[in-house]
Amino acid sequence: IFQLSLPLNFLGTIYRELRQNLIDMDVLFTLQSENAPVQDKLGAQPLALKGGSIRFENVNFGYHPDRPIFRNMTFTIPAGKKVAIVGPSGCGKSTVFRLLFRFYDPSSGRIFIDDQDIQDVQIESLRKSIGVVPQDTPLFHSDIMHNVRYGRLDATDEEVKAATIQASVHDTIMSLPDGYKTTVGERGLMISGGEKQRLAIARVLLKDPPILFFDEATSALDAHTESEIMKSINSTLLDSGRTSIFIAHRLRTVVEADVLIVLRGGQVIEQGTHEELLRLGGLYHDMWVQQASSDNVSESTTQSELAS
Ligand code: ATP
Repeated sequence: IFQLSLPLNFLGTIYRELRQNLIDMDVLFTLQSENAPVQDKLGAQPLALKGGSIRFENVNFGYHPDRPIFRNMTFTIPAGKKVAIVGPSGCGKSTVFRLLFRFYDPSSGRIFIDDQDIQDVQIESLRKSIGVVPQDTPLFHSDIMHNVRYGRLDATDEEVKAATIQASVHDTIMSLPDGYKTTVGERGLMISGGEKQRLAIARVLLKDPPILFFDEATSALDAHTESEIMKSINSTLLDSGRTSIFIAHRLRTVVEADVLIVLRGGQVIEQGTHEELLRLGGLYHDMWVQQASSDNVSESTTQSELAS
C-alpha cells in the first residue's frame, strides 16, 4: 500500500505544484528522475493496444537481490477478462501491479501487453493505458471537483459529475457542506475509506483505460460499503469488456472472476475458476475454508453483540 500510494502521491504533488506555478520545470524533472529509476529505452514506441492481454514470462524479481519475491513467474491474462490475484499476505500481489506499471523492472524475464514487451514501449503510454483504484486513494488538498478531474484533466464539470453518479458517490458529495467545492485531502474534510475508493472509481471512469487494476482495501470496510463498492465496480468498470485485475484479500469479493491466479513462494501455484479451485482442494480451498469460518465467527459475534 505504501509503495502504491507513494508514486501517486508524488504525482499529486507535481500536479498541485504545477497548477500553482510554484516550482520550475528543472526542479520538477530532477525530482521526477530521482523517484523514477525506470526510464524509456532509446527509440521506445508508444504501446499499441489491441485487447489488453497481459503475460508474465519467467519473471524474476526482488526488491533486494538476496530476497527474491518472484521466481520464474509465468501467467497469462487474456484480453477482456476479469482476473483475481490471490494468495497469502506478502506473496507479491501488489508487486504484480508495480512491475506492470514499471515502477520497477524484473531482474530477468519479460512482461508483455498485447505481445509488446513493456520495456520496449514508452512508459507514459503504458501508464496511460492502465487505470488503478488503489487501496488508499491519495487525495490532493483541493476540492472534490479537482480531485476527480485528475482522472482526465480536460474533463468538463458535467463529465466529472456523470462519473461520480456512475460511481455512486454523487449523492454523498451533494450532502457535503460545499458540494463539489468541498476541500478534501491533507487538512481538508475527512471522508471515509469507502467514499475515497468511490472517488477513485470516478477518476478511473474519466480516464477510461483499457486495463484496470483494483487493489482491494485490506482494512475491512463494513459489509454494506464493501457490497456497494463491488456493485459500482461491477456495473460500471466491468461492463465495457476491459481487462481487469483484482488484487483480492477477501475471497468472497472475487468468486465470480473468470480466472483466479493463486500465488505462493514467488510462483503461480494454482489457477482456475472459484469452483475449479475449490474442487482442487489446495491452497485456495484452504484459504476459502479459513475465511468462511472467520466470517462466520465475526458475523455471529456481531449477532450476539446485537442481541446483548
Ligand atoms: P498483502 O496481501 O499483505 O497486501 P502482497 O501480496 O500484496 O501483500 P507485496 O506488497 O507485493 O505483497 O509485497 C511482497 C513482498 O515484498 C513482501 O514481503 C513485502 O514486505 C516486500 N516489499 C514490498 N515492497 C517493498 C520494498 N519497497 N522494499 C522491500 N521489500 C518490499
